[in-house]
This record gives sequence, C-alpha cells and structure tokens, in this order.
Amino acid sequence: MYYDVIIIGAGPAGLSAGIYSARGGLKTAVFEKAIVGGQITVADEIENYPGFEEALSGFELTQKMHDQAERFGVEFIDEEIIAMGVDGLCKIVETDSGKYRAKSVILCTGAYPRKLNVPGEERFTGRGVSYCATCDGALYRDKIVAVVGGGDSAIEEALFLTRFAKKVYVIHRRDELRAQKIIQERAFANPKMEIIWDSVVQQIKGENRVESLELVNRKTNEVSDLEVDGVFIYVGILPNNKLFESRIELDSGGFVITDEHMHTTIPGVYAAGDIRTKVLRQVVTATSDGAIAAWSAEKWIIENHDALEVERAK
Ligand code: NAP
Repeated sequence: MYYDVIIIGAGPAGLSAGIYSARGGLKTAVFEKAIVGGQITVADEIENYPGFEEALSGFELTQKMHDQAERFGVEFIDEEIIAMGVDGLCKIVETDSGKYRAKSVILCTGAYPRKLNVPGEERFTGRGVSYCATCDGALYRDKIVAVVGGGDSAIEEALFLTRFAKKVYVIHRRDELRAQKIIQERAFANPKMEIIWDSVVQQIKGENRVESLELVNRKTNEVSDLEVDGVFIYVGILPNNKLFESRIELDSGGFVITDEHMHTTIPGVYAAGDIRTKVLRQVVTATSDGAIAAWSAEKWIIENHDALEVERAK
C-alpha cells in the first residue's frame, strides 16, 4: 500500500498532522498500536486547550480530533509498526500484516511514564502502585495515597486524587515544586494535601499490596516509613523512540531533534509532539507541531515530486 504521508501515533500531534495532511489532499494513514488519543486520554480534565470554556476530558478532546481527521479522509490503521526503513526517498514501515510505503513519514510516537526503579515498584504495580490517577483514583475512596514527583502531572493528579482519598501526600525530592504556579497554589490551599519536601522513595513495602513507603530525607539522611494504601508515580516521561533511535539524531534524553519545520535528520521524515526535544509538552503544542509537520511534509513532497514519482514507478 502506498501513501503520501504515514503518521506513526494517534495522539494529539498525530491527529492534528492527519487533519492537516488529509485536508491538504494527501493520501494519509495514521498508525496506532494502542488507543487513539495517546497519553492524554487518561487526563480527567483539560482546561487549557483553547476553544473550550468548560474543561473536557482527554478522551473527549482526542475523540473530537479523531472524528475531524476521519471526516477529511484519514485512514486509521490499528497495527503496530515493528520496523521502519528508507529506500532512496521512499519510506517503508512494516507491521505484522506487511509493508506500507510512503513519500513522507511523521513520527508522533509520544512518550511514556518514567519509573522510580526502586524495590517493590514492579512487584506492587497494579496492587497499590499506579501511573494513572484517572484510571485508579476511585479505588482509593477514604484511603491514604502518596504521589511522587513535583511537576505539573504530579500536582494535577494529586489534586484529582483529593476527590477520593482522605489524605494525599506529595513526595518531592527538592524544596520547591516544578509545577506551574497556578497549580501549586491550588495544592497549597487544599486541606487534604501535604507535601513532604526533600524526600525520595527508597522502597515500596507491603505483604500482598502496598502498605508503606520507605522515605529518605535528602538533606538530613533521615529514613522514615509512611503508611499509605497506594502510590502514584509521576516523575516525568521517556520517549517512545525504539523504532528509529539508531537512525535519527536524538538529544541526550532520547527525544528527536528537529528544526522549526519539524524536519528530522532524514529527508522527508518529520517529528511532532512529545517525542520531540521541546520546552513545553502540552496538547496545544503537540497539535501545533502536527500542523507544521504536515505542512512541511506537503512542501517536501511537492519539491521532490519528480524524483518521488520516478522511484514509485520502479
Ligand atoms: P516533569 O515536568 O519532567 O516533572 C517530573 C517531576 O518528577 C519533577 O518534579 C522531578 O523533580 C521529579 N522526578 C524526576 N525523576 C525523579 C526521581 N527519580 N525521583 C523522584 N522525583 C523525580 O514531568 P511531568 O510532570 O510528567 O510533565 C511532563 C510535561 O508535561 C511537562 O512539560 C509539563 O509541563 C507538561 N504537563 C502540563 C500539564 C498542564 O499544563 N496542565 C499537565 C501535565 C503535564 P525535579 O523537579 O527535582 O526535577
């Protein structure tokens, strides 16, 4: 199967790229191995995406983007891409069902939660250790939970958890939060929340499920036990770059380096959204990246029209 543009990943960046690409008249396929919408589908409330006076869920927002993309003729293919290569100017992606070719590829593979890598974390995942407050928060009604991290995700999700839990501890390794000031202020004002500063989790303990966290204070080296029923880990994100890590220039964190046209170091291959090196990972910046990437891909296809057609005819 031959496309003008193949987009890998159907989060906000991929959906936006799909809308711009298909609306521009390009034959466009979006591949998604999991759920359409990406990481943001688990966000309970999005209140900073322009155009919606009332907050809406990540699922609702991305579903709207999906429907809009479909209206313009994007083909959604729910297959996992297991390999990606280049043959001259042509790009080839491979799934268990076969090979697909395209003139241009836009990488929108996003990112996934970083783990703490402490004893007990793996053992108790699903039994008190969670990376998704939206999914598991309601299980902790009137219970005590901890959130690890001090960024926007940690504090927003901790605030969400106060709807259910009777007490929410935030464990942060420094003495000031990284989260935006407006979110911090809400946290400081919430009577159910308590921040444990300068501390890290050394171990997650329990019999059959999480019962306590062993904390160490980084300033005093004091070790203490904190009794909790669950712990939510929000210590940042890592790039989904396995498909192309050896072939494309990445930064030291493994995120894709692009120019302002979203072009990677491979001609005709673009990257958009959380997978890119960027200062602000938000739905609004992901959709912006997607639009620019699709526009750039279209321009590149037009500029290389003759060479692409010769290769296609081979
Ligand atoms: P983040 O901003 O990278 O924050 C990660 C937090 O985890 C930091 O506070 C960091 O501490 C801490 N941390 C990292 N490794 C740790 C470890 N091994 N042990 C303990 N703590 C550790 O990640 P994020 O909160 O997931 O956000 C990712 C991106 O999405 C950001 O750009 C964020 O602005 C954006 N986001 C925005 C919103 C919103 O605007 N509504 C909501 C969610 C996410 P240090 O502070 O000491 O480094």
